[in-house]
Amino acid sequence: MAGDQRVSTYPANSGAGSAALYERALKVFTGGNTRITYVMKPFAPYASHGAGAYVWDADGKKSLDLVNNYFSLIHGHAHPEIVKAITDCAASGTAFGLPTEREVLLAEEICKRSPVFEEIRFVGSGTEAMMTAVKVARAHTGRPKIAKVEGAYHGAYDHLEISLDPTPEVWGAGDPEPVAYVRGTPANVIADTVVLPFNDPERAVACIERHGSELAAVVLDLLPSRVGLVAATPEYLKAVRDVTRRLGVLLIVDEVICFRLHPDGAHTLFGVEPDLVALAKVIGGGLPIGAVAGRREVMSVFEWRNGKPFLPAGGTFNANPLTMAAGLAGMKMLTPDALGRLNALGDRLREGATSVMRELKAPWQVTGLGSLFRLHPHQRPIHDYRTCYPAAAERLALERVHRHLLEHGVLITPTGSGALSTPMTEADVQYFLAALRNALIAVTAD
Ligand code: PMP
Repeated sequence: MAGDQRVSTYPANSGAGSAALYERALKVFTGGNTRITYVMKPFAPYASHGAGAYVWDADGKKSLDLVNNYFSLIHGHAHPEIVKAITDCAASGTAFGLPTEREVLLAEEICKRSPVFEEIRFVGSGTEAMMTAVKVARAHTGRPKIAKVEGAYHGAYDHLEISLDPTPEVWGAGDPEPVAYVRGTPANVIADTVVLPFNDPERAVACIERHGSELAAVVLDLLPSRVGLVAATPEYLKAVRDVTRRLGVLLIVDEVICFRLHPDGAHTLFGVEPDLVALAKVIGGGLPIGAVAGRREVMSVFEWRNGKPFLPAGGTFNANPLTMAAGLAGMKMLTPDALGRLNALGDRLREGATSVMRELKAPWQVTGLGSLFRLHPHQRPIHDYRTCYPAAAERLALERVHRHLLEHGVLITPTGSGALSTPMTEADVQYFLAALRNALIAVTAD
């Protein structure tokens, strides 16, 4: 592994190892955690501290961190510029009931990047950003229904959780059926959600047309991770944009993850013109954030100066100064050069992984774009959720590769995805590829 770029001198726990922490956690959290994003049996390692491209766990083990808090830490851990911004800000107060200059600064930094971003509103998370975008669309159109892609993840807002993980037994033979994700989902939430097939322009247009006059918005991630981290095709995007325009339905693009693909956002890279874009993760410099940006006319649902707005919206920690300060420092470093270098490193990682798989004749493939990648334990061509869906034996193979990588100092998500961060180097990519090679040999050997 490449040498430490920065080594934290502040291990952030008492010295207890992961097993002991998990034992304590079981007493206060069902299942031993407060977030099931990264789970594995018997328990996940606890993070102690991070620096640059690396994370250390509570047992003293150092790993190349390709999870980066689920792709939010595009500048890695404890970047000095961001630490300084947070520290300076904290010393002058962490939150006010009044607006601050810092929110104007971050808004300006984001809005200047795309003509679509005429206005912006900050919220607390990606889930809130997506919820707010949906509510803006409803308030703007006066319509109740939302369309989303089968298998796509957009956070925890009720309508957007529909058909998040349907199984072959329930997903239906024809057009995707809306399937509840959580027990107790109200029937009207299911009925008011239209589920679209990904990258099938004809069928998606037919579904949208069927609900047209009741539909407030189509929600689309241009590179949806749970759908396989495969890109929306130009034909699909054009078809969806055309039909939504024709029927007065708003197009909401979820760039919570994929904003990082281009300094001016993924919609710029893909050449699509959304009405609203949901943002989060990298725009917060590593602190909690969400935002909705879009056309002024649509955002006018927030207008309060003439009486009660169509969409009244508050939020105690919206635009809190700490996040604004970290976000501004992080965004200023997201220059075309920095992202160009990061995306090229991502290309090399995916090309390298494909070569390793080919050389070993391992029945695997890697998808992704820019600094994002996802490993798949099968070779079926992936173009939607159903073609991505792994069989039981394939799931097991992925689980073993994930565990092997973790044991050998490489952290990826349990679903096989990962993201590069700007402190990473060519040597880090080579380290990952060597570890992947060994993991695939170990898993395919028996
Ligand atoms: N949309 C997408 C595409 C996401 O990946 C996520 C979270 N990973 C969300 C929305 C929700 O964001 P948050 O976890 O900040 O609520």
